[in-house]
Amino acid sequence: MKPVSQSIASLRRSGVRAVMDIAFRTPGVLRLEVGDPDFPTPEHIVEAAVRAARDGYTHYTPSQGLPEVRDAMVEKLSSFNGLSVGRDDVVVSAGGGHALFAVYRALCDPGDMVLAPDPGWPNYGTIASLTGVEVERYPLLREEGWAPDFDALGGLLDKHPNVKMIVVNTPGNPTGAVWGREILSRLAELCQIHDVYLISDECYEAITFGEPHISPATLDDERTVSVFSVSKTYAMTGWRVGYVTGPAEVVSMVGRVVENSVSCAAAVSQKAAEAALRGDQASVEAMVAAYKSRRDLAMERLGEEGLSAVEPEGAFYVMVEVPATDTVAFASELVAEEKVTVAPGEAFGPGGSGMVRLSLASDESTIDEGIRRLGRFVRDQV
Ligand code: PMP
Repeated sequence: MKPVSQSIASLRRSGVRAVMDIAFRTPGVLRLEVGDPDFPTPEHIVEAAVRAARDGYTHYTPSQGLPEVRDAMVEKLSSFNGLSVGRDDVVVSAGGGHALFAVYRALCDPGDMVLAPDPGWPNYGTIASLTGVEVERYPLLREEGWAPDFDALGGLLDKHPNVKMIVVNTPGNPTGAVWGREILSRLAELCQIHDVYLISDECYEAITFGEPHISPATLDDERTVSVFSVSKTYAMTGWRVGYVTGPAEVVSMVGRVVENSVSCAAAVSQKAAEAALRGDQASVEAMVAAYKSRRDLAMERLGEEGLSAVEPEGAFYVMVEVPATDTVAFASELVAEEKVTVAPGEAFGPGGSGMVRLSLASDESTIDEGIRRLGRFVRDQV
């Protein structure tokens, strides 16, 4: 038998998955590794989807997405993000991850390179492997609140003339950092100087605890491609809806990738996303308030346990320093001994070594007790 694809066979399995496998076999585990909101999708969104299914939204839609759904996205991009785009500048995808896949594929040919944050969402690397794109990581500096290391980034751009795009993720996973105007302007400037695209992953845009989110495209709309998702904002990870906007030619190519990969995003899910974007935002405010109070609780408990972490300003994660060189082994032992799951920092790149990621997408008692157990486990190590 001829072998399966070697590039797929060699894809690194996420370190988070390895810990989850142990968790599934272990009853009564406190889950702090999750990247999925623990809230239900708000009722009015579910109702809209049920109505849509009854009304016949059970077929293909235009590959770029239903016009009224894209109109809802256009209005939200204007009111929330400050971006002025038209219906044809938006393509709906099957989630933010699929949107990124489509953007990589739309912009790059084999041999082109993407620069992705370190630590950063592991899929920036795995999507590169799937699309035949080379990837290098640019470091984020913990001591600067997880801002990019601009010297290193400039060095990578000088060294690799094949860089086509830089991925920027604010609010960031796993760091929880929210990048302000100064950082984003510097990134936009670098992209201009080196003539590369800025791919802005804004999946956590709504979840900020202080300074509001700034969309990089407000600083440079010529070379910024922006990726959005309803997954985190509306607790809709299972519905699989994301969307992309950017320069007309890029959006048109993204549309081709969507058409030729999934035909279109699921019709009922698109209608659910429309209801989410157009409907009452009170449930979003309530969820963000909950994440904020969980963030405050987590920081307080970490302090009490003598554990150090940069306070997250957004998203729903905290990167905690632990005395371990192999954080995959650390996380595996932690779940075996203390029945708490965390995501090993190394899963997010070398920049995550010596750290584990805690999720705030779990209730307060789980966070409270989970951090106590983490503290006890760390004390027992040393
Ligand atoms: N970007 C980041 C940084 C993420 O953490 C995730 C999900 N964990 C995604 C994109 C993709 O989310 P989705 O495909 O559900 O929109």
